[in-house]
Amino acid sequence: MKVASHPETRPSRVSRRPQQLGTSRRGWEQALEEMGIARYRAGQIMKWIYHRDVLDFESMTDLRKDLRSRLSRNFEARTLRIGHEAISRDGTRKWLFHLDESNSVESVYIPDPPRGTLCVSSQVGCALNCSFCATARQGFNRNLDTAEIVGQLHAARARLLDAPPSTPAISNVVFMGMGEPLLNFENVVNALEIMLDDCAFGLAAKRVTLSTAGVVPGIRKLKERCPVSLAVSLHAPDDDLRDELVPLNRTYPIGELLEACREYLRGLPRERITFEYAMLDRINDSPVHARLLARRLRGIPAKVNLIPFNSFDGSGYRRSRVESVEAFRNILLAEGLMTITRRTRGADIDAACGQLAGRVLPRSRRMRKLRAADGSTPPGHVPGP
Ligand code: SF4
Repeated sequence: MKVASHPETRPSRVSRRPQQLGTSRRGWEQALEEMGIARYRAGQIMKWIYHRDVLDFESMTDLRKDLRSRLSRNFEARTLRIGHEAISRDGTRKWLFHLDESNSVESVYIPDPPRGTLCVSSQVGCALNCSFCATARQGFNRNLDTAEIVGQLHAARARLLDAPPSTPAISNVVFMGMGEPLLNFENVVNALEIMLDDCAFGLAAKRVTLSTAGVVPGIRKLKERCPVSLAVSLHAPDDDLRDELVPLNRTYPIGELLEACREYLRGLPRERITFEYAMLDRINDSPVHARLLARRLRGIPAKVNLIPFNSFDGSGYRRSRVESVEAFRNILLAEGLMTITRRTRGADIDAACGQLAGRVLPRSRRMRKLRAADGSTPPGHVPGP
């Protein structure tokens, strides 16, 4: 697989004007300076947008009237539209956001008082073709722009205003939805900057987690630009098996990936990397796999998340048996690795990544629309099991 040819370079959408929700502090300062307006106004405008939820410039009453009119002419105020909402018995909510006439993405809100975690998407579909992933079955369509990434958090926060009072506010964001965030690098980093900015969402860097399948150059760049918490979708302890489950491994094998993880943590003494491991029955869940995994992670400040596999139609994999997960976990714990077995959330609403989009917008329709739009075939798809 050639990651260099991945559509990171493909523009996500054609837009004439910069968008309010997709503009970081740097972006505002630069735009205001070009308009001959003092840079300090950036923070003032952002507080209206994110703290007071005011998107109409004309209502930003502490700005001069002529400035409000100029901002209205120069910026586009666009929010995301919720196309479908599902609420689980356990309080998990899943939203399908319509981006345009042929593209939708999913976000999932998971309450776990006192925390509320929002899982956001960074691409429509995904090109990385992981063999156990529902999103991969939909192929890749396009990158989300910054406003579409930030818009998921903005819209989710607004929607939760109507939730029961015991519902925790969104305190954490994880980039674990549809897509590989490091292959949409600039838009994702801009979105991270907005999420962390005190004049916007003001989230702490340790409460924002980016999950990658292992795009090694992206991990290095992220450390330089915005070192938030990092999660790595590992799923296998050896290259042969990982080549099969996560084909990106053929480009960045485990040794190289773990070295990038060590570098990421250098100078961040209190941080640890989360390694995600989907437990697949008789594929990657034996005691031999557990011991090898513990050996490979030795010396890396790590937490391992064992994820019960959420099966979907035609996945070709089964969830590991409870006893296998327990034995696997005990081996890792005995080796001194912090290990958590993730609870299944929202099973009654298809809460695993890609399942809702796959149901609401079948792949055949997506493919027809995409071909009609640009005559191409999406780069990522999975042959039937
Ligand atoms: S698991 Fe993540 S990286 Fe792999 S295909 Fe699915 S969305 Fe893409």
